[in-house]
Amino acid sequence: MPLDSIATSWVGTANDPERGFPLQWLPYCAFTPAAASGADGLAHPAAHLGVGIGAFILDLHGLRASGLLRDLPEEVQSACSAAQLNALMSCGPAAWSALRGRLFDLLKTAEPRSSRDTDRQRLVASLMTPMAQAVFHKAVCTENYTDFYASLHHATNVGRLFRPERPLLPNYAWLPIGYHGRASSLVLSGTAVRRPYGQYKIAAESAPVFQASARLDYEMEVAAYVGVENSLGERVRIEEATKHLFGLSLLNDWSARDIQSWEYQPLGPFLGKSFATSISPWVVPMEALAPYRTKLAPRAAADPAPMAYLAEPEEALSGFNITLEAYLSTARMREQAMAPVRLGRANLRDLYWSFAQMLTHHTSNGCNLRVGDILASGTVSGEQPGSQGSLLEMTRGGDDPLCLPTGERRAFLEDGDEVSLRGYGDCTGLPRVSLGECTGRILAAG
Ligand code: CA
Repeated sequence: MPLDSIATSWVGTANDPERGFPLQWLPYCAFTPAAASGADGLAHPAAHLGVGIGAFILDLHGLRASGLLRDLPEEVQSACSAAQLNALMSCGPAAWSALRGRLFDLLKTAEPRSSRDTDRQRLVASLMTPMAQAVFHKAVCTENYTDFYASLHHATNVGRLFRPERPLLPNYAWLPIGYHGRASSLVLSGTAVRRPYGQYKIAAESAPVFQASARLDYEMEVAAYVGVENSLGERVRIEEATKHLFGLSLLNDWSARDIQSWEYQPLGPFLGKSFATSISPWVVPMEALAPYRTKLAPRAAADPAPMAYLAEPEEALSGFNITLEAYLSTARMREQAMAPVRLGRANLRDLYWSFAQMLTHHTSNGCNLRVGDILASGTVSGEQPGSQGSLLEMTRGGDDPLCLPTGERRAFLEDGDEVSLRGYGDCTGLPRVSLGECTGRILAAG
């Protein structure tokens, strides 16, 4: 349901054009008020679902208990009292839209106001928690996590380090490359990430070593959540693929480059990736993203057209005009009260393969996707300097370290370093919208 793009909210901070959580956005999260904390980066049995509005989180559990959702189907009301979003996802797109429309109505400025509106507004206001006081939890139970490699610029930058003459392998233009990641080590933003041990080979040595990774990196990515399942053996047609997606979050696919480069042949990434993957607390529903949908960047004339099963209509708006940024803060920078430095800035619309194509390809052999599964974009990089989504690219494999304002240098991440991903959307006539942050600090190897 398209929502009124001009309407404002009676929640004053929602109308602040810089805050990123206007009435038309309404992303979901799972949270507890700070007093009930005990966060471990995973699910929390006492968590409530919430929706972000201005500087606040509206408690969906409380909203249901107050009777303000009683005109919605019982299964939707029940899903609003769950600790994670999976039950709501399972209700399907019509229910997602109905709930979103209801939340919009409850939060929009009503003119003229009746005494009934005032009473209702007072009740809804009593169900708000300031974002700054909330403890977030994982909003989705994810059974399966697949990481793609959909940014041509990232694939080219990385490929060039190893194969300067032929950076892209022949299959790149034909199919969305991916691998099965590890769902058990998906952690919420804010969870510390311990430097992994692993086996890797130092160039000058003849035998590998087993020690803490010395080439720890981040990857700036976006996660798409599956909201509509396909059964085993059922292929999802490209025309239907976007309808299977519930929403987007930020994702950081932490990567130990030394472990990765020694282990990846011939079966792909394994322990260099599976020690931790961070996700942001906010899940932005696809409906909210509608104004930010756009065409993907055109393919080079020399590239083959996608095969029929992956071919989208030319006018398909299967990309997203969402800006992504990565920031670094070192321990010394924090001691000196310095602001984090921006590492790279890219845009999600520059992907070579859309999430729709990733989903269709993933199911093209009959593989069943489950509600809550994550399809991650792969590192999002642009073509220009300053638009790379990983240190591997920025430092050219570590050969060209970054110089930080403290005088420190970074080829890869050091203990105490904190990486924070941010995402936001700008659209003419609408306030800026935020995907929030996805943050993690590196702990010394244990
Ligand atoms: Ca990745």
